[in-house]
Amino acid sequence: MTSPSADSSTQTALPLALVTGASRGLGAAIAKRLARAGYRVAINYASNEAKAAELKSEIESAGGRAELCRFNVAESSEVDTALELLTKSHGPIEVLVANAGITIDSLLMRLKDEDLDRTLDVDLKGAIYCVRAASRGMMKSRKGSVILISSVVGEMGNAGQSAYAAAKAGLIGFGKSVARELASRNIRCNIVAPGYIQTDMTGALTEAQKDAILRNIPLGTFGSPDDISEAVAFLASPAARYITGQVLGVNGGMYI
Ligand code: NAD
Repeated sequence: MTSPSADSSTQTALPLALVTGASRGLGAAIAKRLARAGYRVAINYASNEAKAAELKSEIESAGGRAELCRFNVAESSEVDTALELLTKSHGPIEVLVANAGITIDSLLMRLKDEDLDRTLDVDLKGAIYCVRAASRGMMKSRKGSVILISSVVGEMGNAGQSAYAAAKAGLIGFGKSVARELASRNIRCNIVAPGYIQTDMTGALTEAQKDAILRNIPLGTFGSPDDISEAVAFLASPAARYITGQVLGVNGGMYI
């Protein structure tokens, strides 16, 4: 993997990467991978400080640098304040991974207003608030890579997940617009759309549900968090300098 553009040999010069929802699952894998690539990683969490602190220690024990950064992505004022403080201490965010997300499954007929609002607030508006806040510093430094974590469900739809699919499809339109709007400032924006990856989110599926899903995955297995973190690290790196506005499906061929 190509190392980040700033000099990572001195601690003060480490470029900053912010990963939202990083205390567990895909976010934690992405945070660890970016730390290995030489970034100072800001670990965002909403409430589980103990888990986030554990991840910070793990990264530091492996020789990396990490900061804790608490905010609820769904509250725009919290996002603005936290990112202002973060950039004051550590400089502009060079890489933003908007990973925080929730799923509230429901058939459309039973979809409650509050569940629809919550899903859109966290999964779609939360990412927009974070990109808007991070882009201020990126525009000034004329450098940045934004990676939005969408889902295969946002590309192909899924019965029982219409609100989640709407939010995740929304991220694709949003990300392509950001790519067009900020390209002249040397800011790239890409979207990673994971398929079924083994995490707490998929751990809740029954064996019958898992078998049904696996039948629709040409490569025949679920993905691992590392499959996603490698894709993110690539898109963040200078190796992807000519790639923007793209959706990278990491889904075992489930959606082609
Ligand atoms: P997860 O539930 O383990 O992690 C989600 C993280 O987001 C958690 O740490 C949670 O605390 C955090 N979060 C939730 N609401 C937040 C808020 N308001 N503010 C800040 N943080 C908040 O799930 P995961 O499987 O690791 O999923 C990570 C991302 O990948 C999500 O956006 C999810 O939609 C997407 N995704 C996952 C899969 C999969 O198979 N696991 C597939 C496609 C897409």
